[in-house]
Amino acid sequence: MTERFVVVGAGTMGLGIAYVAAGSGHAVELVEVDRERGDAAVRQLAELWARAVRRGRLDAEQADANQARITLRAGLAEVAPAPDVIVEAVPERTDLKRAVLAEAETLRPALLGSNTSSIPIADLAAGLTRPERFCGLHFFNPVWAMALLEVVVGPATAMETTDAAVTLAGRLGKDPVVVRDMPGFATSRLGVTLGLEAIRMVADGVASPADIDKAMVLGYRHPIGPLELTDLVGLDVRLDIARTLQAAYGDRFAPPPLLVELVAAGRLGKKSGHGFYRWTDGMRSDGSEPVATTGGVPGGAGAPEAAR
Ligand code: NAD
Repeated sequence: MTERFVVVGAGTMGLGIAYVAAGSGHAVELVEVDRERGDAAVRQLAELWARAVRRGRLDAEQADANQARITLRAGLAEVAPAPDVIVEAVPERTDLKRAVLAEAETLRPALLGSNTSSIPIADLAAGLTRPERFCGLHFFNPVWAMALLEVVVGPATAMETTDAAVTLAGRLGKDPVVVRDMPGFATSRLGVTLGLEAIRMVADGVASPADIDKAMVLGYRHPIGPLELTDLVGLDVRLDIARTLQAAYGDRFAPPPLLVELVAAGRLGKKSGHGFYRWTDGMRSDGSEPVATTGGVPGGAGAPEAAR
């Protein structure tokens, strides 16, 4: 069944969610306030599908059909009422997300979700008039390669909404977990702990970023090291999440000074071309090969590539 699927924010995550939704046959409206970023996202989607065609994972007709399902919108005011799904994927700031969600709700979507990594759903639902239709829909980066969808159930989320989110996961080819509404949920709380400690280890001079990552990949069978993952997520995004978790759980989540300094210097990771590693055209370009366990990136089947 084709659904009208609205994604708000065409950054790292919005782009990935749009890719997966259009690839699953849904009509996607991608809402982005920054014109240049919106245009760049549409170009990037076309490149991703072209690459999938070159690698024999998609035929050219399917690629064209997927791209044709994407419509760029400059604001939610351009979206027709009553879409099936709206997923908010704007930066990790409570006020911004609340404003976007309040406007999104006026369109009366059947399901309203936030891709927040760490902000409690209860906080985001505070200004909503239909919080029962709202839940966390936490996708993982890169969305096309990562199998997990973390469905976060807020105190006001209706059972039907949770069921709809789990059904949606299946239609997008994702495997859901349903978690209680706590800051950082089941994933970011653990994942960010590891990432922040790895950054402290770089600052302490324990080892190079490449060797810290290699230690976790080869020693613990992690598919990717915590510093390379921080580069993929975005250092700015990780900093926002750390601050949210620090407010909730105390200083064990205090952002390391090195993270604050790198973000201030514009070293945001893959998206800015430099974080703990250097990146060119979306690929590591620092001369050191990324290591991988034999299992590769989880959920990678059918993905055009893992974004490494
Ligand atoms: P990003 O900064 O790459 O993209 C955010 C986009 O939202 C930008 O293009 C921005 O211009 C746009 N935007 C801002 N205000 C807007 C508005 N009012 N309407 C429409 N667009 C607007 O951020 P991201 O990394 O994609 O993260 C988005 C969300 O997903 C955050 O909540 C983040 O915590 C979460 N998340 C990120 C990752 C990751 O790996 N980056 C993983 C899981 C979840």
